[in-house]
Amino acid sequence: MSRIAYVNGRYLPFHDAKVHVEDRGYQFADGVYEVCEVRSGRLIDERRHLERLKRSLGELQIRMPMSARALGVILHEVAARNRIGYGIVYLQITRGVARRDHVFPSRDIRPSLVVTARALNRSRNEALAEQGIAVITVPDNRWGRVDIKTTGLLSNVLARQAALERGARDAWFVDEDGTVTEASSANVWIVTPAGTLVTRHADHAILRGITRTVLFDAIKAQGLAVQERSFTVEEAYGAREAFITSASQIVLPVVRVDGRTIGNGKPGPVATALRRAYHLYAETG
Ligand code: PMP
Repeated sequence: MSRIAYVNGRYLPFHDAKVHVEDRGYQFADGVYEVCEVRSGRLIDERRHLERLKRSLGELQIRMPMSARALGVILHEVAARNRIGYGIVYLQITRGVARRDHVFPSRDIRPSLVVTARALNRSRNEALAEQGIAVITVPDNRWGRVDIKTTGLLSNVLARQAALERGARDAWFVDEDGTVTEASSANVWIVTPAGTLVTRHADHAILRGITRTVLFDAIKAQGLAVQERSFTVEEAYGAREAFITSASQIVLPVVRVDGRTIGNGKPGPVATALRRAYHLYAETG
């Protein structure tokens, strides 16, 4: 079955799904995106993702090309047309097509909207979670507003590639003060030796992950202690457990950081329990 993408009002075979060379997303990364998990053909946490999308667009003064409701219809349609049982839908909105010029184009320019969907291999993801992943740390050299989910991901790309080349799966960004901000495409959590969950507070230095937000409900329901604060790489080395969270990976245990073993080198009970419980707290459309 050939894949179908939505591009500016049309559902097209992948081969024909194209945007203009002067799209500002292509020229300047002047756009934002969202990734939503699909499970049993249903979108997870769609409302929260669309709310965050609105916020990202607002921060960049890009208008919504249509209502959140209409966007939701397209997300569902693309997932359905691609027969996604388990996977992701990807949505991207840019400031639109205009002659290349740094300043914003006229307000009449329509934002561009692209939606794609992709199946994920569930058993492979589960196997990865049962094994846990290795990460490296890299300096956080991103711009100061990574709370906005822009398509400007060059630092994230380079970090991920560096991880791969050093035999790891992902990279954690580290601020100038030695504290961990987040992973290349996920939020970072540790469990301290005393059993308290810790994740960085959501300021301009991290993306406020939807999975991160929902996980607070799961943590509360399980009666676990949690703190939103900075933590250093050293503290992470000494953690009992570590894991990352994102819509496509949910809760993914981390068992090695910069070659140092975390806990006993296996996914811990807290991460495992939270991974299992996640969808009890998520919204299923
Ligand atoms: N931080 C970054 C940099 C990300 O790219 C992502 C994934 N979109 C996240 C955190 C996690 O966000 P979410 O849980 O909404 O997928």
